[in-house]
Amino acid sequence: MDQLGKVAIIGLGLIGSSIAQGMRDVLPSVHLSGYDSDPTVRARATQLGLAQVAESPSAAVTGADLIILCVPVGAMAIAAESIAGGLKPTAIVSDVGSSKASVAADLERILPDARIVPAHPVAGTEDSGPDAGFAALFHGRWCILTPGANADGEAVLTMRRFWEALGARVEVMEPKHHDLVLAVTSHIPHLIAFTIVGTASDLEQVTQTEVIKYSAGGFRDFTRIAASSPVMWRDIFLANREAVLDTLQRFSEDLSLLQRAIRLGDGEVLFDLFSRTSAIRRGIVQQGQDTSKPDFGRSNI
Ligand code: NAP
Repeated sequence: MDQLGKVAIIGLGLIGSSIAQGMRDVLPSVHLSGYDSDPTVRARATQLGLAQVAESPSAAVTGADLIILCVPVGAMAIAAESIAGGLKPTAIVSDVGSSKASVAADLERILPDARIVPAHPVAGTEDSGPDAGFAALFHGRWCILTPGANADGEAVLTMRRFWEALGARVEVMEPKHHDLVLAVTSHIPHLIAFTIVGTASDLEQVTQTEVIKYSAGGFRDFTRIAASSPVMWRDIFLANREAVLDTLQRFSEDLSLLQRAIRLGDGEVLFDLFSRTSAIRRGIVQQGQDTSKPDFGRSNI
């Protein structure tokens, strides 16, 4: 990675901190600077030794060969504006946002002269902030690059090598297709989790104590997802509105079919679907994207 003398990370939460810690392990000679709009996060990032933390975005990006915006999707435009004045002419600007079409359009509009390569590491946890980050977060996970039609090929290659160095597998995708794929694999599952946890807490006939006591029946797996950052997820649904609404329409139709099968006592429809879904789970385990241990490898609690 000789092209990278200095990298700047804007936003030092879970993802920014994980990139910084991963870089410390595999790219120790690269100078790393950082900035976060929250002064307590800046102080904590300094304590953790994540990067040389600057007091302004422009100070962080001065002389940087690569700038990675690690802020919520709804803050990407503001973050891009905050660095616009300080960029080196050859700088690559990337991001880690969970939705891509609107972010890519914002970056290209606000930074027309930068070499823009949007990215989305498909890896994370329900925790936020610099303390939640860890170097191995991207190991064996996919990182999707969504360069525009006129993107600089050398910059795309640099980003591919960068994410591979952090342990990720890299795929290139068109931004709109990324948003559709992620609506199905991440955004709708989160919406379902937010809904079911909300429904359970509103049910009058079942007490809160019972919901918590019997959560091992499946509910607790939804609560992990539903504990994710409200800011991050609000921004994702607003940014990826079109693909989410399309996928939600399909999901509602499929749910109505199941509702009908249950009402009519049609066990065959239920059995066929549950057999197909169990094959998808086997595929995820076979491709190393989850553990095959029962109950996600939890010890018996
Ligand atoms: P996070 O832990 O909440 O960290 C984001 C940090 O960015 C916060 O400290 C926030 O400060 C700061 N920030 C907000 N606006 C800023 C600005 N204009 N300039 C500088 N700093 C700013 O969030 P995260 O989980 O790392 O997520 C960051 C990005 O990664 C999001 O776009 C998300 O969609 C994407 N992503 C997340 C995951 C995941 O599982 N978490 C996975 C893949 C991709 P304040 O709190 O004060 O606003």
